[in-house]
Amino acid sequence: MGSSAGRAAGKVWLVGAGPGDPGLLTLKGARALAQCDTLVYDYLASPAIVSLAPPDCEKIYVGKKAGQHTLTQDQITALIVQLGRDGKKVVRLKGGDVFVFARGGEEAHALAQAGVPFEIVPGITSAIAAPAYAGIPVTHRDHNTSFTIATGHEDPTKGYSSLDFAKLANRKATTIFLMAMGNLAGIVAKLRENGLEGDTPVGIVHEGTKPTQEVLTATIDTVIDEVARTGITAPAIVVIGDVVRERERIRWFDAQPLFGKRVLVTRPAHQADDFATRLWEAGAEPILAPTIAIGPPRDPAPARDAAACVREYDWVVFTSRNGVDAFFDALGELGRDARAFGDVRIAAIGPKTAEALAMRGIRVDLIPPEFVNEAVATELLARTVPGDRILIYRAQEAREVLPETLRENGRVADVVAAYATRFVDDPDLAEKTERADIVTFTSSSTVAGFVHNVPHASALLASKTVAAIGPITAKTARDAGFRVGVVADEFTVDGLMRALATAAVA
Ligand code: SAH
Repeated sequence: MGSSAGRAAGKVWLVGAGPGDPGLLTLKGARALAQCDTLVYDYLASPAIVSLAPPDCEKIYVGKKAGQHTLTQDQITALIVQLGRDGKKVVRLKGGDVFVFARGGEEAHALAQAGVPFEIVPGITSAIAAPAYAGIPVTHRDHNTSFTIATGHEDPTKGYSSLDFAKLANRKATTIFLMAMGNLAGIVAKLRENGLEGDTPVGIVHEGTKPTQEVLTATIDTVIDEVARTGITAPAIVVIGDVVRERERIRWFDAQPLFGKRVLVTRPAHQADDFATRLWEAGAEPILAPTIAIGPPRDPAPARDAAACVREYDWVVFTSRNGVDAFFDALGELGRDARAFGDVRIAAIGPKTAEALAMRGIRVDLIPPEFVNEAVATELLARTVPGDRILIYRAQEAREVLPETLRENGRVADVVAAYATRFVDDPDLAEKTERADIVTFTSSSTVAGFVHNVPHASALLASKTVAAIGPITAKTARDAGFRVGVVADEFTVDGLMRALATAAVA
């Protein structure tokens, strides 16, 4: 193999993105995405997956929605071959699996012929996943011993069809059609002609695994009328056979309380992932709209100095993950590490802050029962005596209740601004909010950042469910004129998820 031009060899990964839920991308696919320098993707790829590519990666959209091809298949194939020859690390991302009605075979063949190295990363095909998310198992001992995945792209009533309808007309051998919505009447007619009973169950799953999933169950006799009545459209999977009846018993994804809800997430981008993942899992659609971002404080010297002499304190208190990050950044700049703490005791305001410390090898001595400053103060007073020295490593803008309570009780409390929150300017925030059903605030500053962007915030939010992570944030939101419908009673993302789910059921 001669790389005659002397260039670094390129490589192409043909990656299946899965059917829509970003959690269904494989680990191998995620690794390929994280290291690529060019991404070639089409319309079935979820934005959450596209965003896993590095920020400086070139992203090329090649379309391919029925009727609106941006590039032809030949052009796409030529493009990835050329990018590979140019020495690029290319991810060619396809919805579902790369080889299930996705022309991955042709692309791989062209790469092989051109001598461009490639790897195939299979994906979870919508043919199986969309039924699964509808509560339809593709095989079940009570119903079938085989299934066929077929294309419904050819109109069987117009001349030649390569499908063997005599074989497919069997309710005990499931047929799963992709791309069948345009020809559904012809397919149903053909199955009937071949003897399929009119009461055979049919399931149609539109946008399976996504918060926009819609499911229609009918029979061969009723399905055409039902499609017309409900208006269900492509992209959809059509499942024909007795397995469809299982949905009555094992429907799950679209039965969750938050299913289909669009939830605005205003917390800083670097903290939004956890929450977004939790929302996807609940069948909800996160709309990411960070209203604040975390940056250095106005004067970074005190935070650095305090980190340098942390051993002079009896306790150090961290009131957020950002404070922990800032502390270790400061230590790093000083060329030091976690040993700087010596035997200083360490308090975290809540489990997430404690987890950030645990990741640095630090086991905290105190997490209060309620994750607010008042509770930190109470617990610290119980564990210290007057004269004890306490370092509070926190945001530039924060409530004074913790240091004040400590000082009133004779403790020495030093407050250090370790980081500052600044407002993010988002010209699309009002429009994103309009799309949302639920608007979440996970700190008072996210409320302030929201109002900063949307002057008529309270009017805009009047028809939305406003959810706050705890009573302090709720109060800030109410002071801004918002009607707060949901307040978590554990002040974490988990607590907020539980409160949202409970409210949705009520
Ligand atoms: N390679 C893909 C299929 C591409 S063909 C896969 O393995 O899933 C495009 C067809 O796939 C659509 O017309 C539709 O029938 C089906 N499809 C893809 N994603 C879907 C989804 N989330 N829900 C329902 N059908 C889907």
